[in-house]
Amino acid sequence: MILCTDIKQLQRLSATARQAGKSVALVPTMGALHEGHVSLIHAAHTENDLTIVSVFVNPTQFGPHEDYEKYPRNLAKDCKTAEAAGADIVFAPPADKLYPHKDPVWVEVTGSISKVLCGRTRPIHFRGVATIITKLFHIAAPDNAYFGQKDAQQTEVLKRMVDDLFFPVRLHIMPIIREADGLAKSSRNIYLNPAERKAALVLYKSLKQAQKLFLQGEKNSDVISTAVRSMIAAEPLSTIDYVEMYTLPGLITVGKILDKRTLLAVAVKFGATRLIDNTILEVDA
Ligand code: AMP
Repeated sequence: MILCTDIKQLQRLSATARQAGKSVALVPTMGALHEGHVSLIHAAHTENDLTIVSVFVNPTQFGPHEDYEKYPRNLAKDCKTAEAAGADIVFAPPADKLYPHKDPVWVEVTGSISKVLCGRTRPIHFRGVATIITKLFHIAAPDNAYFGQKDAQQTEVLKRMVDDLFFPVRLHIMPIIREADGLAKSSRNIYLNPAERKAALVLYKSLKQAQKLFLQGEKNSDVISTAVRSMIAAEPLSTIDYVEMYTLPGLITVGKILDKRTLLAVAVKFGATRLIDNTILEVDA
């Protein structure tokens, strides 16, 4: 496996592969790789000839009081994990090379897709995400790119971006990988102390309860989201940011769940750590 930190070198490696008729996959990550990332890399490796994993803690998607500085970084360990999962290249460029200008070019998906849910409390987040993924798509020129359903709003933002800017990239959205007890894997789980870690299980439990209500015939989104909110609020260590439901695709507000796919998304703080999770309620075709 190659560790590449140079933009031009990665462009050459990708171009050479494509000229040889090989398919190229990109798995963008911020490192601190866990089994969630591994599932994406594994899928990319299985379905493509060349798998590039980017490891880059993107400064522009963090707000001024967020965890950019303390975000876990361990490139040597990430390289081993990525290689074992099937990566051919780990791309880990320095921030000043990816953002060479003081006044950068921004890519921004406007409208409710980036304003609801995390967009409300993290107003510059999705501009940072769309901008970095644009840069990575231009550098790696992948045929296929792999993302996790864990970041459901991010996938909606990126689908819109790819569609609106005509990127010749196919997006693959992979299922949420969870710990044995149901907590969604996240690089931020290491911030939780034991009591918060235990409390955070309420997220999965409440999403499962929502699925149960839905399968029992409940189609009123307010009833479902109220049930989830009360379950989470009953956990003393939790502070709810949001519990909301939107249609997929497009993140449009729902009343009665009539659309085929509805996203139920939650963001909750346990101590100083903000976790997100979600589930999709699907009406049978
Ligand atoms: P991050 O390193 O947090 O930016 O995540 C990189 C990619 O991994 C994103 O597409 C995430 O949605 C995906 N990802 C993160 N956690 C999980 C998980 N538990 N299951 C599946 N994919 C995940």
